[in-house]
Amino acid sequence: ADLFGPSRKNSAGIELGDAASLEALLAEIGRATAKPFPEAGAVIDGKPVAGNRRELRSPIDARPIGHVVEANEASAAQAVLAAKAGFPAWNATPARIRAAALRQAAELMEARRGPILALLQAEAGKTLDDAIAELREAVDFLRYYAAEAETKFAVPTALPGPTGEENRLVLRGRGPFICIAPWNFPLAIFVGQVAAALVTGNSVVAKPAPQTPLIASLAIAILHEAGVRKSALHLTPGDGKLGAALVSHPDVAGVAFTGSTATARAINRALAAKDGPIVPLIAETGGLNAMIVDATALAEQVADDVVMSAFRSAGQRCSALRLLVVQEDVADKMVEMIEGAASVLRLGDPREIETHVGPVIDAPAKQRLDTHIAAMQAQGRVAYAGTVPSLGGTFVAPHIIRLDKVSDLTAEHFGPVLHVVRWKAGELDKVIEAIEATGYGLTLGVHSRIETTVEHVTQKLSTGNIYVNRNIIGAVVGVQPFGGHGLSGTGPKAGGPNYLARFATEQTVTINT
Ligand code: GLU
Repeated sequence: ADLFGPSRKNSAGIELGDAASLEALLAEIGRATAKPFPEAGAVIDGKPVAGNRRELRSPIDARPIGHVVEANEASAAQAVLAAKAGFPAWNATPARIRAAALRQAAELMEARRGPILALLQAEAGKTLDDAIAELREAVDFLRYYAAEAETKFAVPTALPGPTGEENRLVLRGRGPFICIAPWNFPLAIFVGQVAAALVTGNSVVAKPAPQTPLIASLAIAILHEAGVRKSALHLTPGDGKLGAALVSHPDVAGVAFTGSTATARAINRALAAKDGPIVPLIAETGGLNAMIVDATALAEQVADDVVMSAFRSAGQRCSALRLLVVQEDVADKMVEMIEGAASVLRLGDPREIETHVGPVIDAPAKQRLDTHIAAMQAQGRVAYAGTVPSLGGTFVAPHIIRLDKVSDLTAEHFGPVLHVVRWKAGELDKVIEAIEATGYGLTLGVHSRIETTVEHVTQKLSTGNIYVNRNIIGAVVGVQPFGGHGLSGTGPKAGGPNYLARFATEQTVTINT
């Protein structure tokens, strides 16, 4: 494959409808699952670092799946200093060489789809569909940021000026970047952050979520093999305390974080408390994502899109639907259809291809969701409850919960729990105001066949990603740049044309010729 040049296509994906290719894929996954997964651990300058060794268990059935050797505070400092030492050489490496390493990593990931998909299933509990979509997204991020860097970073931009003066704008790396990724996209978001930081010339210390270090380790090994200097990319698996130690280090030049709003705030405070340079934070956080449905919407399509947006991926996407806001006149019929569509979802082992909904990530996540559901049950608000399989894993069944008004939803419940609110004809503006007033702005759905209603809603709401007459998940790299503002993050949008610039410094050079 051509590793140079700004041309780029999203990956073709895998045709699961074709029996032969499905069989080949399952055989590759089976081979990877048959042997133990390689141990994960901190890697600094390409070398393993000693630390506490912890067993990992699958959310599917609580069986052991491997081990991680976690970084501690001493190795966090060591990693940042190694990234500081590795920065100048990597920043001086031409952008097209850095981009070529990303493209090579994309090739390797496609070639090693068996082990990658096996880990996405065993470690993160992903269905085959979701695992494939995630691998594709990771590959797309690598190729997209490679192409973006080649067009924007490889050559300085010439700027106009008076005769006898030459002006140019140069983009350069900032220094050691800390990338902190979530467990819900342990490959795509992890790789997206790291790729963006690296291709713009930064060195990186990557901290995966404590739940998903195995897949992160594999991704780092691939990036190194693909040509990223070992002195420019370091891995430190660990928990939130380790994350705090990393971002508080005086030599950190930038932080990219995806996770909860509360943690983004804590990082922001830690960065603000440091003396020395002002350190930028790129944060993607949560959402109270709503879908507005009016009486003209197509009921069957709404039911499909709601089930897809609220329950698939076990509701564990930042983009997932949390609040259905449906016009009263059609609410009973719509909810009944949604319940019908939800009742045919197969919950179970995500490694079986018939499964639609797998487990939630771990016991604390299940506990939080169960507590919320029980509280709603006590108030008589549960309109629908699915049933969980008895596999020993952390399963939460899809639930539909009735609320009286938009402002009754006060927290993001990160799982397959949908809340429903009704609105009366003539009160659309009130609904819009209430959604805007949540302070979140990640995704929004609108289902209506009236063009002026669609126009009105999309103009009034400032949500980052608005989807009309379709589901609200699965933003595609370069097609639906993804991210929100306010309580949902700092922007810029991942997989969009303005993302990379935020990882860089800009330098204007003026030469009197
Ligand atoms: N980009 C994903 C989507 O559109 C969501 C990412 C996330 O959950 O952070 O569904």
